[in-house]
Amino acid sequence: MALDTDFSDSSDRNPNSQSNLLLTPQPQSQDSPWQADILIVDDTLDNLRLLSTMLHQQGYNVRKAVNGQMALTAIRTIPPDLVLLDIMMPDLNGYEVCDILQNDPNTADIPIIFLTALNDAFDKVKAFQVGGVDYITKPFQLEEVLVRVQRQIAFNRANQEIRQWNNCLEERVQQRTQQLEDAVQELHLEITERKRVQQQLLELAHHDYLTGLPNRGRFLDQLQEELEKGHHTPDYQFALLFLDCDRFKVINDSLGHSVGDKLLIAIAQRLIHDLAGPDALARMGGDEFALLIPDISKAQDVYALAEYLLGLFETPFFLQGREIYISASIGIVFGTHDYQQPEHLLRDADSAMYQAKATGKGRYEVFHPTMHSAALETLQLENDLRRAIERQEFLVYYQPLVDLQQGKIMGFEALVRWQHPQEGLLTPARFIPVAEETGLILEIGQQVLKSACQQLRDWQNAGQVSADICISVNLTAHQFVQANLVQTIDKILAETQLNPANLKLEITESAIMANTQLAATTFQQLRDRNIQLSIDDFGTGYSSLSYLHSFPVDILKIDKSFVQTWQGTPETQGLIPTILSIAQTMGMMAIAEGIETPQQLQQLRSLNCPYGQGFWFSQPVPPEEAVQLLAQEW
Ligand code: C2E
Ligand code: MG
Ligand code: MG
Repeated sequence: MALDTDFSDSSDRNPNSQSNLLLTPQPQSQDSPWQADILIVDDTLDNLRLLSTMLHQQGYNVRKAVNGQMALTAIRTIPPDLVLLDIMMPDLNGYEVCDILQNDPNTADIPIIFLTALNDAFDKVKAFQVGGVDYITKPFQLEEVLVRVQRQIAFNRANQEIRQWNNCLEERVQQRTQQLEDAVQELHLEITERKRVQQQLLELAHHDYLTGLPNRGRFLDQLQEELEKGHHTPDYQFALLFLDCDRFKVINDSLGHSVGDKLLIAIAQRLIHDLAGPDALARMGGDEFALLIPDISKAQDVYALAEYLLGLFETPFFLQGREIYISASIGIVFGTHDYQQPEHLLRDADSAMYQAKATGKGRYEVFHPTMHSAALETLQLENDLRRAIERQEFLVYYQPLVDLQQGKIMGFEALVRWQHPQEGLLTPARFIPVAEETGLILEIGQQVLKSACQQLRDWQNAGQVSADICISVNLTAHQFVQANLVQTIDKILAETQLNPANLKLEITESAIMANTQLAATTFQQLRDRNIQLSIDDFGTGYSSLSYLHSFPVDILKIDKSFVQTWQGTPETQGLIPTILSIAQTMGMMAIAEGIETPQQLQQLRSLNCPYGQGFWFSQPVPPEEAVQLLAQEW
């Protein structure tokens, strides 16, 4: 159907009339597939009517505007799906309306089809330039109008759908991207965390929890690496230092494990602080540390380092307001290509360390193959000692303590001997260190104390000794700090009926210093019972004499090394006069140990040393012989 009416010169032009602006949407046909909203803008009312009737019949929602200004208002109020826009209008012409709409983002996408009369001066290029999508010429061809409108609306719908679809896609892509980013971030965190945990586990597996030093496992790995270097380069030499604290058990037993732990940390810190490469230092467990010295050229360097390490222990450790003295023993082994396994190096360094302990502690020893047998011997000794306690194989010998002015015996020192079933009579040096190390000393000490108290009581009962004769019994550090020392003594005194005033106890300075607080309490308890206390081997241990003021010591026993190096000249007198004068001013007794010759006796007498002990008077002897000595005078 064609509609060839020319509307272009319709006379019904009243652009300003409000009644001509029909903004309300027209009713839609039920079967309209589109329900699209079309705005027709034309100042020729006939054209408006014709187009709107036609489009309405086709099921479109149609609105109308008679001039450009009204069109803009209608479009801004409800944006239509399509605008049919007349070009030639008074005031705002179609190009201008289109231009305004194109420049507003809210309306820029609304398709505009220009309406133009064929005889108008229509500029197609301009129409497209300002944003028109199509044009329809008047007089209208109904089919053409419909096709163009339908096509444009369909095209626009498709465009909108594509745009929506694109938006939707973009949103989903963004969501997915965000999800991926989140997942990557999470994965990254998880990997970092896993790495951290792995690192932590690795650290834990390789490090000692207390000191933070590499542990035994890590150290063995390092040793293995060193051994391999040695196998590739036969000249390559390294050394292993195995350090063990002396009498550490005493610290733990007396001050508690938490102080023990703190001391270990302090020791580790001191060692790390003074060593160039702390990596090579490890804690092997307990109070043991090991140090690897790679690539050495001279054994002397290793010895110097060992000396240096020992020197680090000379300064006391300061913990919980007290000074703690501790020494260490070091075993050295040189890594040679004879070694195949790191464990063997450790074993040998340990043997050497053990040897250093057995020969006095606070020193170093270099491994020698004979030490294997020494270590085995120690093990054997420990077993034998346990058996000896059960079978009571210990004997007590007695050595007289002599009043030098009167030349008469004033007491005896009880000295333990071991009647070994195979090896015969053993002196304390052979077994006391192992007994101390293993704690067996407590049992042995108790047997000796009981035996000595019983012996003196027996002599008293038999009328063989006068009432003022005393018995001196030695206590090691371990014994001195045992929890129930005073009760044990009380029990023995009660059983043997010995007067406590006849009992003296000998301890070394180190036993006091291991736990000064506990020592003070014990000292007081013993003093309350009238039991006298001697400091044994005085002058060899701690040079600090300050403790003498705080402890009620009765007797100083001048170590035999002073007596024996004294050649009668003032230069060789050593500390003897000093100790004598300390004893005198503080009201203590002094006993010189190790008098072997009449000259030594003479010299000590000349210094007014009140008491003495030594082979010159008598070796330690069994009780039957000891009692015979009472009659003697020197
Ligand atoms: P100590 O308490 O200083 O005992 C003195 C040591 O010096 C004894 O060695 C004695 O035999 C030795 N001696 C005495 N006079 C002379 C001398 O003129 N010259 C020389 N060179 N030595 C002399 P012994 O009996 O071998 O005891 C060694 C150490 O073992 C003792 O030193 C003591 O610390 C410890 N000890 C001995 N018996 C016991 C005991 O029953 N319990 C504990 N805990 N330790 C003991
Ligand atoms: Mg003694
Ligand atoms: Mg002594």
